[in-house]
Amino acid sequence: MAIAEKIRASMERASWIRKMFEEGARLKAERGEEKVFDFSLGNPCVEPPARYLEALEQCLREPRQGKYGYMPNAGHHKTREAIAAEIRSKRRVAIEGRHVVMTCGAAGGLNIVLKTVLDPGDEVLILSPFFPEYLFYVDNHGGRPRIVPTRNDFALDLGAIESALTDRTRAILVNSPNNPTGRMYDLASLRSLGGILDKCREKTGRQVFLVSDEPYAEILFDSRRLPDLFGCYRDTIIVSSFSKSLSIPGERLGYVAVNPALEGADVLVNGLTFCNRILGFVNAPATAQNAVSRALGTYVQAAEYQRRRDLLCQGLREIGYKFQLPDGAFYLFPQSPVADEIPFVQALMEQGVLVVPGSGFGAPGYFRIAFCVGAAVLRNALPGFAAALKRFG
Ligand code: PLP
Repeated sequence: MAIAEKIRASMERASWIRKMFEEGARLKAERGEEKVFDFSLGNPCVEPPARYLEALEQCLREPRQGKYGYMPNAGHHKTREAIAAEIRSKRRVAIEGRHVVMTCGAAGGLNIVLKTVLDPGDEVLILSPFFPEYLFYVDNHGGRPRIVPTRNDFALDLGAIESALTDRTRAILVNSPNNPTGRMYDLASLRSLGGILDKCREKTGRQVFLVSDEPYAEILFDSRRLPDLFGCYRDTIIVSSFSKSLSIPGERLGYVAVNPALEGADVLVNGLTFCNRILGFVNAPATAQNAVSRALGTYVQAAEYQRRRDLLCQGLREIGYKFQLPDGAFYLFPQSPVADEIPFVQALMEQGVLVVPGSGFGAPGYFRIAFCVGAAVLRNALPGFAAALKRFG
């Protein structure tokens, strides 16, 4: 036994994206780069904004003792304050730097939140289709994921959520705009969700956290604005990231923002700070924090992704695919023409088109297209999409 059985089993279950990636590399070597259309990874194709890159250069040039040193586990004071100020300007909430904890991406943020709030066996509601890592993150910290499907149009199914709440529920995880569907939840349904969670708390006497995973908050289409979740529910924790908004996923920078009105907000922030340390993150990367604090407010242009969405959706609609138009992020989640999407995904692969089966997101019968690729890749992939669909009638 070189590795734990549990990890071996988890790796097997989570292997789809990796399999597509490896298959893509094999096909590229065999057929040539330009004949393979890789939609498997959510790696931004747009370069970081010039303002961020300039700020980064300034930080590197600046002679300042200790700029690469350890810092308080919650992050640089200046960065936390700058993020709080930005949230205040958007959400009309009296948040301060002390409510913000800098993290290693949204992934690091979600892990410190779950580590801080879960007791063994606590349940976390996860809405399907979901970002596959959620299941592992919950398990990392002794929780039990409880999957609740969304509606056919991927909107919140409030009735299903209400029925899934128990006296063991500690948190519900929402992700809007969503990976893999691109759906943004509207204000009215989020307010209703807040009401349902309030009622649950009254009934069970237990604090239930609404954890909002928002790495795509800045990538919204058709002039949409993200509803303010702090205004919908008191015990809300926002997890965000600069991975997609600044196109810097490799730099690993994100944050957790706690609603100042949350009951026990200070204790929670202390817990998050401690967990940043003991999970081995220690603190979020110093240079990225410094650069971000100088460049907040300038993000990648959502219009760049909207153009890609429109190009892809128009092409696929003409071919005959069925899907919900994404509200944001850079994913499309069409229906497979057959209930078992795996053979269909394989047929696409034979055409050199790499997508990820919906089963990996808890939604068999669908597949995910990450359209964060060049426009030429989108255009040139359309004949492959057409040929595969034709084969399945
Ligand atoms: N949550 C969702 C829904 C994601 O899609 C991703 C990354 O793709 C993450 C979290 C992790 O993001 P980060 O790179 O900020 O850790």
